[in-house]
Amino acid sequence: MIHNFSAGPAILPPSAIKGSIEAIQNFAGTGLSILEISHRSKQFEAVIEESIQLVKELYQIPDGYSIVFLQGGASLQFDMIPMNLLNENETAAYLNTGVWANRAIKEAKLFGNVNIIASSEDKNFNFIPKGYTIPSDAKYFHCTSNNTIYGTQMQSFPNSPIPLICDMSSDIFSRPIDINQFDMIYAGAQKNMGPAGVTLAIIKNDILGKVTRKIPTMLNYQVHIDNGSMYNTPSVFAIYVSMLTLKWVKEMGGTAAMEKRNTEKANLLYAEIDRNSLFKGTCEVEDRSKMNVCFVCNNAEHEEKFTQLAKEKQLSGIKGHRSVGGFRASLYNALPLESVQALVDAMQQFEKNI
Ligand SMILES: *Cc1c(COP(=O)(O)O)cnc(C)c1O
Repeated sequence: MIHNFSAGPAILPPSAIKGSIEAIQNFAGTGLSILEISHRSKQFEAVIEESIQLVKELYQIPDGYSIVFLQGGASLQFDMIPMNLLNENETAAYLNTGVWANRAIKEAKLFGNVNIIASSEDKNFNFIPKGYTIPSDAKYFHCTSNNTIYGTQMQSFPNSPIPLICDMSSDIFSRPIDINQFDMIYAGAQKNMGPAGVTLAIIKNDILGKVTRKIPTMLNYQVHIDNGSMYNTPSVFAIYVSMLTLKWVKEMGGTAAMEKRNTEKANLLYAEIDRNSLFKGTCEVEDRSKMNVCFVCNNAEHEEKFTQLAKEKQLSGIKGHRSVGGFRASLYNALPLESVQALVDAMQQFEKNI
């Protein structure tokens, strides 16, 4: 068995893989492949509807929010958010917690003013800034719930006096949230929700329609909302696989069950990192991510050897991002506990035999 610790695109539940294969051969009894049907077919309309229903159920989303499936990745949201929400003479507040937050900031500056209210850049993003004040005269506050590259995660969210917008690409549906705290949540699917090619956005309707600039049709949230994510051809297959994954999350017991499962996995791995004399974690303990666990060897010369052992043990995708080095084990929802145990076993064997 190969243990898939990839940071994204990433592991999917077996039922999503199996259901995808079936739908490629014969989708919903149509005798056609999901790859060759119309997005306007009633069978696919049912898929979009069920996907929206699952998102609503999993996060207990009340009326007043819209759920859309977009393209262009989370990265296009870095542009669409300020384009749809920020006038040129207005200011948006951003929390700078890593590469993705930085990219969001860079794009927002194309559309208005950006106030970076706190940053962890001076410590290579190894912690989540706290104790900042969100200015009530800014248009919105943008944060990144989980920093995929650095392995930090917001353990709670501020009560924001202005609309709170969160990039949840790498921890969407990994734990319960209080949706009422948020005005917009978005996530590229390929970390914790599905394959690459679709981006989920959950948008509180009343934040829209307040900018004066002309918004290109395809970049206008209202257009996608009004057309039920079908203004143009949506990512049919990616949405279908995401739906299968969300179904799996629901069957497993929803976001509370995911949190329990993810906590168990993360605790097992962090305990070994802290115990094992050869390794150390790279982040502040209180800000450690349950999704992406970053660690290095105390002796840099050991890294090549552990990489070799990991390969022998079929531990796939644990090489750290180039901005941190060392190792990164991504423990997304679908990763089973036994894969984490296999990694821990390898670390213990490494310590004994070095
Ligand atoms: C991967 C990632 C992105 C970029 O997603 P794309 O879909 O590739 O554009 C943005 N934010 C976070 C937190 C990510 O993990």
